[in-house]
Amino acid sequence: MKYISTRGQTPPLGFSDAVATGLAPDGGLFLPESLPQLTAADLARFASFGYADLCFEFLRRFATDIPEAELHAIIRESYTRFSHPDIAPLVRLEENLFVLELFHGPTLAFKDFALQLLGNLYGRQCRVRGEKINVLGATSGDTGSAAIHGLLGKPGTAIFIAYPDGRTSPLQERQMACTGADNVFALAVDGSFDDAQAALKELFADQEFRTRHRLSAVNSINLARVLAQCVYYLWAWLRLPEKIRNEAEFAVPTGNFGNVLAGWMLQKMGVPLRGFRVATNQNDILYRLFTTGDYRVGAVAPSLAPSMDIQVSSNFERFLFYSVGRDSAKVREVMQNFKTTGGHCFANFDRDTFTASRCTDAEIPGLIRAIHAKYGYIADPHTACAFKDLAPGRPSVVIATASPAKFPDTIRAAIGIEPTHPSLEALKSRPLVKHKISATPTAIRAFIEQHAVA
Ligand SMILES: *Cc1c(COP(=O)(O)O)cnc(C)c1O
Repeated sequence: MKYISTRGQTPPLGFSDAVATGLAPDGGLFLPESLPQLTAADLARFASFGYADLCFEFLRRFATDIPEAELHAIIRESYTRFSHPDIAPLVRLEENLFVLELFHGPTLAFKDFALQLLGNLYGRQCRVRGEKINVLGATSGDTGSAAIHGLLGKPGTAIFIAYPDGRTSPLQERQMACTGADNVFALAVDGSFDDAQAALKELFADQEFRTRHRLSAVNSINLARVLAQCVYYLWAWLRLPEKIRNEAEFAVPTGNFGNVLAGWMLQKMGVPLRGFRVATNQNDILYRLFTTGDYRVGAVAPSLAPSMDIQVSSNFERFLFYSVGRDSAKVREVMQNFKTTGGHCFANFDRDTFTASRCTDAEIPGLIRAIHAKYGYIADPHTACAFKDLAPGRPSVVIATASPAKFPDTIRAAIGIEPTHPSLEALKSRPLVKHKISATPTAIRAFIEQHAVA
């Protein structure tokens, strides 16, 4: 299987090279040149598989340049640090309402599903090619900690995560700065997330620096992330009662559109998923798109569901590519128009498959309260957004993207209970090692020069 860029100006690459490259050199995103089809016989055979074996059956169709035995071992290893025996348990709240819990990984958010695997793929790259890799990213929360825990202690790698000092939650900071691993560097930047992001962008633009340190970006656009995320939709579909399987709508808390895109791609591979609800918080560019056809940036307003505080959804370009009939010239035109005017109007897209909802900060605590009162279930602020506008009578699967224990203040304010988790409690007594640094390219570059693996 080869991987092509949405913008059509990068020669096709194999899986491992596309994963190592991240963003395509023409500015586009990698996609498989064709989507393999899963047949009814395949799906019937998959029903009895455990999570890691299902993941292998799925990914072996994509990672065709990795020997199968090795790929299988990497995948098994990637799901050993999940605390629930089902990895992604499907919990039934009532007759036609299910929650797919994706927060039993090491950092208690769904990003572990992809980043545990991506960390092991990077590790393999270092082993097989004798390369070192320095991973660099800016985070306002979950991505940074999940990336760190994917690379923790992996020989040949180092990871540098810049975050705005004092502006992530204390628990999120501890997940990044209390690992004890000597290949992990938590950079507490004196500035905002945007300042940190801008500084890193400048470093990445310096080809000499980038090549010399084999810098790789951690962000939500890596191909391997989207593919790894397809698997839990397949897992959930296989576990739904047969008579509602093809009717259930997946309600997905959405920011960068990576999670929901994975479900949609699985549908395109022949798994009869009914559809998806794009559930945004008050940062609602995708809600506006799917209700009006107008894709237009607004200002980001910080919210109680911070991992969805996004206005430009980086994975949207992959959806766009399919929506315009795989016409990469059209993708370039739309992205250019979006860049210069801040918006684009779509005449048609898959309205049959997508619905959308929007949840403001004023509504989140009330939803958490109502879910707890009705089902005795505690939903984190991101997951709570997806409980809004459940279609009455239609079977639904709410995707739970984070553990409520990551957001104790919001939960306590809503229901008077403070959820805890043993792994977060353990962090409170571990030494916090962070590197305070100014949010300038010069300062961050000097730090990397000093600490990069070479
Ligand atoms: C990242 C994240 C999201 C948004 O996922 P996207 O793939 O960016 O749409 C939602 N909830 C939580 C808890 C997250 O960490």
